Amino acid sequence: MNISRTSFPRIVIIGGGFAGVSLAKKLSNKEVQVVLLDKHNYHTFQPLLYQVSTGGLEPDSIAYPIRKILKDYHNFIFRLAEVKEIDTTTKNVMTNIGSINYDFLVLATGSETNFFGNVELEKHSMAMKSIIQSLNLRSLILENFEQALLTDDLHERDALMNFVIVGGGPTGVELAGALAEIKKGILPKDYPDLDTRRAQIHLVQSGPRILKEMSEKASEKAEEFLEGLGVQVWKETRITNYDGKIATTMTDLIFETATLVWAAGVKGALIKGMDARELTVPGNRLKVNQFNQVEGVEDVFAIGDIACMVTPEYPIGHPMMAQPAMQQGAKLGENLIKLLENKPLDPFEYKDKGSMATVGRNKAVVDLKNYKFQGVFAWFVWMFVHLFFLIGFRNRMVVFVNWVYNYIRFDREARLIIRPYNKDYSRFED
Ligand SMILES: Cc1cc2nc3c(=O)[nH]c(=O)nc-3n(C[C@H](O)[C@H](O)[C@H](O)COP(=O)(O)OP(=O)(O)OC[C@H]3O[C@@H](n4cnc5c(N)ncnc54)[C@H](O)[C@@H]3O)c2cc1C
Repeated sequence: MNISRTSFPRIVIIGGGFAGVSLAKKLSNKEVQVVLLDKHNYHTFQPLLYQVSTGGLEPDSIAYPIRKILKDYHNFIFRLAEVKEIDTTTKNVMTNIGSINYDFLVLATGSETNFFGNVELEKHSMAMKSIIQSLNLRSLILENFEQALLTDDLHERDALMNFVIVGGGPTGVELAGALAEIKKGILPKDYPDLDTRRAQIHLVQSGPRILKEMSEKASEKAEEFLEGLGVQVWKETRITNYDGKIATTMTDLIFETATLVWAAGVKGALIKGMDARELTVPGNRLKVNQFNQVEGVEDVFAIGDIACMVTPEYPIGHPMMAQPAMQQGAKLGENLIKLLENKPLDPFEYKDKGSMATVGRNKAVVDLKNYKFQGVFAWFVWMFVHLFFLIGFRNRMVVFVNWVYNYIRFDREARLIIRPYNKDYSRFED
């Protein structure tokens, strides 16, 4: 990797997501050599991926170069590298561009889509965990409408215009709302020779309510908003398989669709060498103590989605969300410095700042600790919070201008098929 040792201890961080970047900021210009490895040269703002998939934003506005984040940190080295294996006995990290030794290692690799072992479902459905996958989905949605124009078979045409989104969490809810708005505001103008009123958007949730991590009021209101937009919400319905044409459920209900989006689960993005059963909990997360040290492995830490810290308040670990990831990154930064100075470490304590989801124009739900609200004000709060946490002034400006433009014009101009989606070889790309 062409990285020389300095007199300072070396900390290797794998992953430049919310957790990794937050840790990096805390270690800036301290007496450590920090090597950050990521398989992408950019940080992704995942909460807005659904807007890329639905043509509301261009991908560049939710991605930010990692090198630029680190540009003023003199003790930092970045390498574009995919980590393949970790050897904790020799303290070595193996990547596609070579290997590197560490004094301390931090895993901040995030999570990946969990298909719960259903290979056929994985093969045919669309995931939305990265910019590449979001662009694939954007292309597929538009290609389906182009295809629908060409067929005389009404059955086939309907299937091309039907969308099934599995998973009633924020991702599923936000995507369903955005698709419903496209159906109403854009499709009739773009495809006047198609009866786009026949397009259906189904949101399928296995449990009794959508947004189950939020308050009951938020769930009820989000469902009401979605139904108002014409989305069909199916609760207590579990998708069992999808062959690319038909999605089956545990009952007689089936959905004929050319597009099934799987937003029903994630699992930790483990790396070989750190994937032993004794190190992990179900859901592929690494067991960590209150200082984010991986239990049973010396000098190795995990933060963010990949880490599972069990506390009385969070018996299955903290929610796999941006806030816990950022807070763990920041606390670990402080603790690593303390560790090097032989000072006692501070345990991590999660400060829950609330959660929110948007359903569409003027419609969002927000749960704060002591205050829960829904509707237009919630939508403004949702927009403000997302703009605030986006990295980079340019990105904030571009997103803001896009949102204002889309709001005034009822438009989504990034509905472009730049790179046609081919199911056969795109699926393993990411
Ligand atoms: C569609 C979507 C919507 C979401 N909406 C919200 C929301 O509204 N609010 C919220 O709080 N949270 C939301 N989340 C969850 C939130 O994005 C995650 O909890 C957060 O990104 C976790 O941060 P992290 O740093 O642990 O992982 P990530 O941000 O995923 O970063 C992991 C990094 O590790 C890198 N990496 C992984 N494996 C390797 C490897 N082997 N070698 C090199 N690099 C590697 C990746 O390239 C990536 O840059 C959403 C997630 C998705 C997918």
